[in-house]
Amino acid sequence: MLSEEEALILKTAEKIGTMVGRDYWLRCAREKKSPDMLWGELLKTNLTSAGVERVSGTGLLEAALVQEGLARAGLPVLQFLTTHLSRTVIAKYGTGQQFERFVRPTCEQGKKISFCITESEAGSNTWRIRTFAKKRDGGYILNGQKTFITGARESDYLLIVARTKRYEEVEDKKDGISLFVVEANNSGISFEALNIELYSPETQYTVYFDGVELSDENLIGEVDRGVNYLFDCLNVERILIAACSIGLGEYVLRRAVEYAKQRVVFDKPIGSYQGLQFRMARAKAHLEAARSLNYNAARLFDGGGKVGAEANMAKLVASEAGLEAFEIAMQTFGGNAYDLDTDIITFYPVIRLFITAPVTNELVLSYIGRHVLGLPKSY
Ligand SMILES: Cc1cc2nc3c(=O)[nH]c(=O)nc-3n(C[C@H](O)[C@H](O)[C@H](O)COP(=O)(O)OP(=O)(O)OC[C@H]3O[C@@H](n4cnc5c(N)ncnc54)[C@H](O)[C@@H]3O)c2cc1C
Repeated sequence: MLSEEEALILKTAEKIGTMVGRDYWLRCAREKKSPDMLWGELLKTNLTSAGVERVSGTGLLEAALVQEGLARAGLPVLQFLTTHLSRTVIAKYGTGQQFERFVRPTCEQGKKISFCITESEAGSNTWRIRTFAKKRDGGYILNGQKTFITGARESDYLLIVARTKRYEEVEDKKDGISLFVVEANNSGISFEALNIELYSPETQYTVYFDGVELSDENLIGEVDRGVNYLFDCLNVERILIAACSIGLGEYVLRRAVEYAKQRVVFDKPIGSYQGLQFRMARAKAHLEAARSLNYNAARLFDGGGKVGAEANMAKLVASEAGLEAFEIAMQTFGGNAYDLDTDIITFYPVIRLFITAPVTNELVLSYIGRHVLGLPKSY
């Protein structure tokens, strides 16, 4: 399924994740510290540039392998994901100058980008976002707010989805959406941490834009046409989330298998009891199926194909397979699963997150229903 080179990327990322380790990851989460050791190792091995064709000659598949490899070691590195999906659109639709200013530093210095699309009122209905960039001479003035933004304060740059024409003023709801990339420490940008526990060092924020002055160099591509670029972004996001779900599923399943081999109850290892064994076997099969779908989607993207259907299906199947693996891991560990120190239940928030974010599975199903099966639109 993977070439030798691709397999090496997956293995290297997993090795780095294992070396950095869950203990370090959880300590950073408790102490609200950035996992700098991890980013240092990714930089040393050039994995920070995985997926950036102009720098490393690699594509989305390689970025997905890094994401999956780290997750296979128990590290759901969401800032790798937000950085990569953001730099993909900047690299593809931005100028050469924007590439040098915002993309190259993510490869060569480990700088990070947060992706800011969600607004509390609009929710899944992105068309109804209200963050607005008003044109002025040489640039824009940005006002509004975004919520649930992963790693926003710790990131170096923000990729912001804003309206440049109000929803009420356009005939086509897709018109008037624009993408901007900006330094996170720009004046007028402030952050409020949310009380979310993912047992990960990456905090979620509400981000406020209060009269932020943007220049024309902050705009990606053409004004009002951002929706064309956004779809690329969102498909990359689905594929990376799928990679993370698969990797975490593999991690908790591996832990469950190890435990089931050595835990003896009624004089036999519990792994011999088919009530557990079959569920583990089923989870493994579903993770493998998700992996095939995901690699296929990533390869299609790298070949320049349309991947809406494939990326959505991979996200759906992978998020469900990850959760299934988590469920059987919980059952295998019995009462011990509830002890935070066993570090199994600690995976629930993040594995379950992928059913809801970056897009809910209801909207994914709705996409497949409409665009793959040709069923009528529901909303
Ligand atoms: C930990 C975390 C990290 C996140 N990180 C980021 C980030 O970095 N950047 C970012 O921009 N966002 C981020 N998000 C936001 C995330 O993408 C949204 O929470 C998600 O897209 C769902 O939107 P919502 O929460 O507004 O739910 P809502 O849109 O309010 O949906 C609520 C429920 O209604 C259902 N529903 C809504 N409409 C329909 C319909 N038409 N048909 C069927 N069901 C429907 C949904 O499926 C869902 O189950 C993050 C969220 C979390 C929790």
